[in-house]
Amino acid sequence: MAYLRAIDDPVTKLGGVGPAAAKAYRELGIHTQSDLLLLAPRTWEDRSTVHPLGSVRDGQVANTLVEVLSHSYFGLKKGMKRTLKITVRDVSGLGDGRLSLLCFGRNFLEKTIRAGRIYYLWAPVTIKGSEKQATQYELHPATDDGDFPPQFGKILPVYPLRGSLTQRLIRANIRKVLAEHKAFINELPESLMEELDLLSTDEAIRTYHFPPNLERLARARRTLAFTELFYLQLVARRKPRQTAKKPAVPGELELRLIERLPFALTGDQLTSLKEIREDLNAEEPMNRLLQGDVGSGKTLVGWISALKIIAEGGQVAFMAPTELLARQHAESGAALLEPLGVRLAFLTGSVKPKERAYLLTALKRGEIDLLVGTHALFSESVAFKNLRYVIIDEQHRFGVEQRLALLGKATEPHLLLMTATPIPRTLSLTVFGSLNISTLQTMPPGRKPIITHLVREESRPRMYKAVGVEFTRGHQAYFIYPRIDDSGQSDLRDVTNMYEFLKRQYPGVPSALIHSKLDEEEKVAILGAYQRGELAYLVSTSVVEVGIDIPNATCMIIEHADRFGLAALHQLRGRVGRSALQSYCFLVFSEEMTEEAKKRLQVMKDSTDGFYIAEQDLIIRGPGELTGRAQSGYLNLAFASLAEDLELIEQARAASDRILQVDNGFLAPENAIIRSVLSEAPPFETGRSEA
Ligand code: ADP
Ligand code: MG
Repeated sequence: MAYLRAIDDPVTKLGGVGPAAAKAYRELGIHTQSDLLLLAPRTWEDRSTVHPLGSVRDGQVANTLVEVLSHSYFGLKKGMKRTLKITVRDVSGLGDGRLSLLCFGRNFLEKTIRAGRIYYLWAPVTIKGSEKQATQYELHPATDDGDFPPQFGKILPVYPLRGSLTQRLIRANIRKVLAEHKAFINELPESLMEELDLLSTDEAIRTYHFPPNLERLARARRTLAFTELFYLQLVARRKPRQTAKKPAVPGELELRLIERLPFALTGDQLTSLKEIREDLNAEEPMNRLLQGDVGSGKTLVGWISALKIIAEGGQVAFMAPTELLARQHAESGAALLEPLGVRLAFLTGSVKPKERAYLLTALKRGEIDLLVGTHALFSESVAFKNLRYVIIDEQHRFGVEQRLALLGKATEPHLLLMTATPIPRTLSLTVFGSLNISTLQTMPPGRKPIITHLVREESRPRMYKAVGVEFTRGHQAYFIYPRIDDSGQSDLRDVTNMYEFLKRQYPGVPSALIHSKLDEEEKVAILGAYQRGELAYLVSTSVVEVGIDIPNATCMIIEHADRFGLAALHQLRGRVGRSALQSYCFLVFSEEMTEEAKKRLQVMKDSTDGFYIAEQDLIIRGPGELTGRAQSGYLNLAFASLAEDLELIEQARAASDRILQVDNGFLAPENAIIRSVLSEAPPFETGRSEA
């Protein structure tokens, strides 16, 4: 028996999935067979009731039994290829009527669809004059024994399509996976299934794709959505909320650091520090989200807050989503903290074995106070002597994931999540449950609002001129290209062309090309040179999206801006405007953009307020988009909709609270199922990061 989310066999092992289909599946985020089972149908076609030809209206779908009457050909001119027309009549007994099936490019059907035979027909019908016609249809021969063919008399799932994918292929692939796995491990305690009238996981997933009737489908969907929400809430709400606040004064190390800063902390930074300090002083582990727009100074709050733990002899881990960003943090952290005697080290996947071994020993002995790095910090081989505080930068899903990793450890460290992608209130309450929130609303003083221009193709020359002027002032720029496909090929070409073009545009101005295919050392070298001002501009794919802090950069030029989502645009723009210098953002768009893209760019022009932008993002995408993989910014849910399943969210919250109250560690026998689901295959996506 397998967990629904633990079938790691690739979809490419399934029949009919060649390179084209594999690529299309990848575009849908589907790699494994589990991913495939989690693909939510867009809708279901109800083929369980007959819609005879006699009563079908223009634009409706016929679903009935027909007899083939005759073949004929039609065509406009002599010499032009003619088209086969097959005329059928309804023999369902429920209503007469005829239909013409137009077989464009499929004249060979004359040989196979013979007059006098009986077929099941499914076809969207249009009415031209007095004739009912169909150009897309399915015909399945009626069998002698009167059994329905598999596509008929059923409710069929209709999946979102990409590339070469067809409904037929996806249905067959899903059927195959379901058939190969006789039973999926149940994921809900029985008492809950009974109470809420839910199905077993196994029955739910089978019913969800191929429901026998609509009532059953609704129950299956509820089961799957509830399961996601229930586990989400269990994890999010596992820590009982702190009640008594313990006041705490800033320690000596903290004060010394604050004194040494060349600027004063903002009021919001001071407030957040106080909130964090009180949490760190309490017995319960802290569980806090620090949200603040790009450039609001979150990192500094992280560093200062760490000093309390370090002064007490504890260790702190500071995690960033990318190697580049981790390195930058390590450097800025070292500059700030080492003069105070803090022992800081840097660990990522690319640290050499010898250095790594040395570092791990020191860590275990407690000779390192602060370890900065990527998720490599939490690999199994990394053992701290006394890890008491974990700070996580810009990783939205990590909150949930991290709690899973920490679940069951003897002493749970304090946790601070930092994010610049403001989380709309409704979402934060749902997804993060009992997470406390600190907010940096005000920017450090002296920042000028970034001026944003929407640039059409023909206005490029003016833009290049304006950026050139910034170069003469000694300021720096980023030129950004979207990442276009998985392989990294086409974006690489574009970005390389652009790089050559810009070199001609700005002769003698030093620059570099940076993209995800470069190895880490090269990237680091380039960013170092840029940071020291040796390069005037970077041409880049979106590797600079998150976190990089180079105050002298004043121009952000985003090519094909219409292809970026709002969150990405906002993050990218946040790379400039990080000092008292006036900064500019140029969003270059093409005329053929979609309505949604137009709205997104307008929002970017109208506002630099990340909170407003996040809200608009939700409005533009609509609540439907919150479901499933589309909602990649926060957390991927395959079945539940955070916008629409309010009642289910409430039920999941109540159920999870009830369990947590009596069994916070899921130790009771009836909760063993919860513990194993959480450790084996948690019902929400936490793994894959979309770089
Ligand atoms: P965030 O991570 O919130 O996007 P950073 O922590 O990268 O922002 O800070 C942006 C820049 O602002 C950094 O160069 C930092 O040194 C600076 N900064 C932080 N706090 C202040 C402040 N109170 N006044 C002036 N500059 C500040
Ligand atoms: Mg940051």
